[in-house]
Amino acid sequence: PDGAELEALQHADVARLLPVPTGESDKYRRGVVGIAAGSDRYPGAAVLAVSGALRGGAGAVRYVGPAGDAVIARFPETLVSDRGPHKAGRVQAWVVGPGAGEDAGTVAEVVAADVPVLIDADGLRLADADAVRARTAPTLMTPHAGEAAALLGVAREEVEHGRLAAARELAARYDATVLLKGSTTLVADPAGGAVRVNPTGTAWLATAGSGDVLSGLAGSLLAAGLSALDAGSVGAYLHGLAGRFAADGAPVGAHDVADAIRRAWRDVY
Ligand code: AMP
Ligand code: MG
Repeated sequence: PDGAELEALQHADVARLLPVPTGESDKYRRGVVGIAAGSDRYPGAAVLAVSGALRGGAGAVRYVGPAGDAVIARFPETLVSDRGPHKAGRVQAWVVGPGAGEDAGTVAEVVAADVPVLIDADGLRLADADAVRARTAPTLMTPHAGEAAALLGVAREEVEHGRLAAARELAARYDATVLLKGSTTLVADPAGGAVRVNPTGTAWLATAGSGDVLSGLAGSLLAAGLSALDAGSVGAYLHGLAGRFAADGAPVGAHDVADAIRRAWRDVY
């Protein structure tokens, strides 16, 4: 019965949705994505989210948080700010949460922003549910099964055994698009309708930091102007393909997956 409610994203759909620059493009029109992630304890999450964002199609990546030095050392093109999200300058979409630790203030500031927001990892735990529901710009939440279970107040197994229902329930509760990660990734819109299922991906993606790369990538697509549903499903599609290309039958680190996003993009476009 679930079959009719699921829709697999096709290669051709993804190709049509990729944000490709034209002669009139400049970096601001391509979109600026803000990354509010990382902490003194988890600086690498910031680096990985930025690595995904740089390969997603936005014209610039802005980083706010305590891991600016680590981010700049690896990606000198990042616009780093030591001020909070409100004072960071122009941003068309935010990613908040990967490696954020206990920084609830930053999460609240981003959730209050009037632009599309992707909430992941610690951000899911720290965000106030009423504040998320009160948002007027699109929201994309990207939990794995454990995070989804915590938000729903159920056991992880319950989510694993009813992934479609869990994604729909979260989308309705938070009035947000929900990308439920796992061996099959689902993307559900709050308005209902068919839930998209990602046909790419590989179990090699079950590695630390791989979700942080996806957050940056999908956030970049949001900043480039895709809807939350399209940004989530195109992001998952490219991330899955990148995982396959990077792994090619051998173990990978998350940074390898980020590096392979360009190859995934070329394969689709
Ligand atoms: P996270 O748990 O936030 O690090 O995200 C893990 C990423 O790896 C997500 O994009 C998942 O969809 C993906 N992933 C995890 N386990 C598997 C699996 N067994 N098969 C395919 N993809 C997976
Ligand atoms: Mg994660």
